[in-house]
Order: sequence, then structure tokens, then C-alpha cells
Amino acid sequence: MEIKKKIGQILKSRSSFLIVSHKNPDGDAIGSSLALYRALKEMGKEVYVENPTKPAYTYDFLKDYEIIEPVSNSKDVEVVISVDTAEISRCGLSDGYVKDKLFINIDHHKTNPGFGDINLIEPEASAVGCLVWDILTISNIPISKATAEYLYLSILTDTGSFRYSSTKPKTFRIAADLLERGVEPWFVASNIYESEKLETFKLLSLVLGTLELFYDGRLAIAYVTQEMFRKTNTTADNTEGFVNYARSIRGVEVGILLREDEPDKFKISIRSKGNIDVSDVAVHFNGGGHKNAAGGSIEAKLEDAKKKVIEAFSFLENEK
Ligand code: 5GP
Ligand code: MN
Repeated sequence: MEIKKKIGQILKSRSSFLIVSHKNPDGDAIGSSLALYRALKEMGKEVYVENPTKPAYTYDFLKDYEIIEPVSNSKDVEVVISVDTAEISRCGLSDGYVKDKLFINIDHHKTNPGFGDINLIEPEASAVGCLVWDILTISNIPISKATAEYLYLSILTDTGSFRYSSTKPKTFRIAADLLERGVEPWFVASNIYESEKLETFKLLSLVLGTLELFYDGRLAIAYVTQEMFRKTNTTADNTEGFVNYARSIRGVEVGILLREDEPDKFKISIRSKGNIDVSDVAVHFNGGGHKNAAGGSIEAKLEDAKKKVIEAFSFLENEK
């Protein structure tokens, strides 16, 4: 049986579910988790949503924000579904816990090894929300306005507001269907992109001051330190989207944000334009991701971390 249909059958026939996604969940992880939650709830099922980290305040306008619980590895359910999770370790579930459950893995990261009993992995999908939409529509599972809003959030954020190369004709067809189900694009967009806290901009102004260009302006690096967080009374949650400023400079092909999450421990976010595949580079930093958006981590002092990044992109010197 076609795999999406098979997953739809499981959603209909089983009665209890746990939905998980990757730590520090983004709009796609949250949107696709909550869309499945809503659709299943409205079918009368027992459903839980867990995540290793509390979702950022950006998403606190969502009706079901509060139902997302920390990972417990103890919910007594028949089916576990992971969404947008490239490695099982990133959702916090233990092997022992999932062993006796039916484990469905729904993702669009090409690096996903297929750790589920059932694996739906489509790297061409604009967002995991598109795959959830496929599953629900193929199986005629009702999509309410609330479910549609979560799917729209997933697609809006993962395509960079329909700007990235992952945006296809089908992406707009799905978005149109969601609008027909009652989604108001301005409502989602203004809550995500026009509801920022003032201190975030205080932090941003410090971060923009660190921007530097390398390799004839093809690589841009910015960083945020613990000191900057302290000064502006902010946390990592306030840095959502900052890396995009590095990429958005004219001539820049790769934009980097180094974020000091703990002293001398940096999270690296990498974004590229066009054909440069940064997921391969992220692997050198114990990470992964997509062609144009990837991430990882570096343990080093700031100057050394910067050097490592510059070295990793030395291929930019030879191209052109
Ligand atoms: P961000 O820079 O927004 O944290 O992540 C961008 C993309 O890179 C996401 O799609 C995410 O899947 C991937 N990514 C970020 N950090 C890591 C990491 O530490 N490991 C892996 N495998 N992927 C990551
Ligand atoms: Mn995604």
C-alpha cells in the first residue's frame, strides 16, 4: 500500500498517539506536530505532544502551545510519530521506550536514516506540513481551520515565506487549500514576523555590529555571545532568523551565525543561496540539515570557532 495511505489508515485505526519533533523546534516542527495533534483529537483519539525543549515564545500565540510537554519516555501509547526529526537523538526518545511501539518517522531531511518502523522521507517536500497535508487528504481525514492554521505555519516558516528554492507549485496549491479552509495568512504572518520583543532588536543591533565578510564578500559571519545575552536580557530564543541577515547581504553566498549557548560552546547556523549545499559542511560540525539551511555545534573560543568556520568554507576561494 502506498505509504501515505498506510499512515492514514494507522491514524484512523489506532487509538493513542505520541507526537515528537526535534529539540529547539522551529515552525515546521511545531506546526506539523500540532496539526497532527488537532486532526487526531478531532477524531476522538488520545494524543500527546512532547519536545525536548520548550518552544520559543514566538509560538505562544498558538492555541495549543501549552499542551506541548517535555519528553518523558513514559507515555503509554500505541503509536509514536516523529516529525521533522533527522536523527532520533534530536527528539529525546530512548530506544527502550520506542521498542514496543509502532514508530512512524515523517521527515524531509535527506540525511534521515529511516529510524522508524514506517518511514515517510521526502527531501523534495517544502515542509513536513506538506507531507501531513498529503496524509490527511489522501485518507479523507477532516482538516479543520485549526489544523489548517498549523499546516500553514509549518509551510510559511520552512519556505521562508514562500521564498526558498523548496517552494514549488504544489506548495502554493496546498497553501490555497488551507486558505479555503479558513486560514488568514495575515494572522499567522503578523504573529510570527510582527510581534517581536524590543530586547530582541537591542540584541540584533549588537549582532549586526559583528558582521564580517570573507572570500571576496562571499562568506558572512556574525556572532552572538553570552555577554550580549546578559547585556540585553535575552536568550537563544531571541535569535530566531538572525542568520538570515548575514545571508541577505549583496554578493554573500553563505551566511553564518555563531551563537554562544554556553561559555565557549557555539551553535552554528548556516544558510546559503542558490546551489551551494551547506548540509555537507554542517556534518563537519556534528550537524546536518538541508541544502540551503543547516546547523551544528563547535566547542572552541570565539576566535578559534571563527577560524574553523572560515577554513570549512575555503572552497569559496577557488570557485567563481
Ligand atoms: P537552524 O540553523 O535553524 O538551527 O537549523 C537549520 C537546519 O539545520 C534545520 O533544518 C535543522 O534540521 C538543521 N540542524 C541545525 N542544527 C543541527 C544539528 O545540530 N544537527 C543536525 N543533524 N541538523 C541540524
Ligand atoms: Mn522542516
